[in-house]
Amino acid sequence: MISPSIEAAINRQINHEIAAAYNYLAISAWFEQQNLPGFAAWFMIQRSEELEHAMRLYNYLLDRDGSVALGAVEQPRGDYGDIKGAFEAALAMEKANTAAINELYKQAKDEDDFATLSHLQWFLDEQVEEEKIMGESLAMVELAGNDSSAILMLNEKFGARKPEGEGA
Ligand code: MG
Repeated sequence: MISPSIEAAINRQINHEIAAAYNYLAISAWFEQQNLPGFAAWFMIQRSEELEHAMRLYNYLLDRDGSVALGAVEQPRGDYGDIKGAFEAALAMEKANTAAINELYKQAKDEDDFATLSHLQWFLDEQVEEEKIMGESLAMVELAGNDSSAILMLNEKFGARKPEGEGA
């Protein structure tokens, strides 16, 4: 049986992950509207990954005989200004999510909830990867600047990404 405070914290984290998916969906739609389908497809894969993260926590909570309590999801931004703005928003969101995972990890540590600590290990590693990829992507977009041929090349490159498990 999981403690009520850890249960509540995991429910909050499920909400963060679903909110992240919702934000990536909004970013993907924004890129479609800019006629950059490669970037849009890339963010759609991000969306799927965040939903998978939510489901990992959802299943974990149920495995521990916890109760899933789904909360309201905040409305994402609709406009990102420019390509760089979209990646900056994405990186800021990943950093906020890392902080939330760290907070959850600390709480589980304080409560000696070893099973939750073990489950969260995967998320700690995943956040290192997410921030790395988003930071590198932002750097590439910054290098491309307003050079339309560079942007179109990046659109192709991002569009070639395969969902995890399909040999990315
Ligand atoms: Mg996530």
